[in-house]
Amino acid sequence: MTSFENRFTRMFGIEHPIVQGGMQWVGRAELVSAVANAGALGFITALTQPTPEALAQEIRRCRDMTDRPFGVNLTTLPTINPPPYAEYRDALISERIRIVETAGNRPTEHLESFRAAGVKVIHKCTSVRHALSAERLGVDAISIDGFECAGHPGEDDIPGLILIPAATRKLSIPVIASGGFADGRGLVAALALGAEGINMGTRFLCTQEAPVHEAVKARIVEADERATDLIFRTLRNTSRVQRNAVSTEVVEKEKQGASFEQIRDLVSGQRGRKVYETGDLDYGIWSVGMVQGLIHDVPTVRELVERIMSEARQIVANRLPGLLATSAHPVTA
Ligand code: NAD
Repeated sequence: MTSFENRFTRMFGIEHPIVQGGMQWVGRAELVSAVANAGALGFITALTQPTPEALAQEIRRCRDMTDRPFGVNLTTLPTINPPPYAEYRDALISERIRIVETAGNRPTEHLESFRAAGVKVIHKCTSVRHALSAERLGVDAISIDGFECAGHPGEDDIPGLILIPAATRKLSIPVIASGGFADGRGLVAALALGAEGINMGTRFLCTQEAPVHEAVKARIVEADERATDLIFRTLRNTSRVQRNAVSTEVVEKEKQGASFEQIRDLVSGQRGRKVYETGDLDYGIWSVGMVQGLIHDVPTVRELVERIMSEARQIVANRLPGLLATSAHPVTA
């Protein structure tokens, strides 16, 4: 049953207003195709692939698993080895990808190529001013990421309850609410705040199809909302990660004034990747949001999406009208 159709679902040709945004080492064909087949919008993470050619192959692999729309995430943030962004961009354009999620810095240098190729762009950012600037540049939608989120929340520390309505009040293009979403209650709340959908990372990481070790999923189920650390605060490249031996050591070293060079080996993405592969949870840093406190199981992607939609319908159809029906005061507006 289709419902909650809106500008966002129509613009991107999807059934449900739910997005699985970029996740380094996780956004691979297995997960993205499952999200697409469940009627939501998934993104392959470009930089998870070692080369632009490997990205092209991953896109083809995903197409073999779904005939529904999916996109590619291109994140431009500080990296230990700067990747050839323009080559990744050209690879996804050559593979006829029509939806891109940009994140990190302003997507200015890539937008002209995307536009010329008819690619729709969702820009993910963590402040209203950056969202407005991306809207002026001509992106098609904004994914606004609150302080609760996994990975890079920016430096303003504004939680979604404030950031989402602050953004939807000023933007004209569709806004997707990101950071802290895991269930139908969150979806309805996001819609009430003026967004037209939700983006989820950690919740999709904890599904059957997510290509990560079972121990990672078990840890998310077990952990509560307090078990994250903010690293790179002192470097103004803040990142929210699962609290573990490495994150604790990094926070301690930063307190003592460590430079990036002094923590580089601890925080490298290659070590984080090993956590996902081997299930050794203390081997490196791995991104997770506060929302892990709301995650209690490891469903299939389809079960998850259907559950969120049915819970959201139930709230809108039963719980919210019930509030009006029991009101002692008649509604006049
Ligand atoms: P990496 O191994 O290059 O770096 C590890 C971490 O250190 C990253 O968080 C990175 O931002 C940070 N970092 C690197 N150089 C830095 C510097 N000079 N100063 C401050 N911080 C620095 O990263 P990776 O795991 O190979 O990931 C590649 C890129 O993708 C990184 O920029 C990462 O932040 C980003 N990323 C993307 C997603 C996504 O969803 N697309 C998710 C998480 C991270």
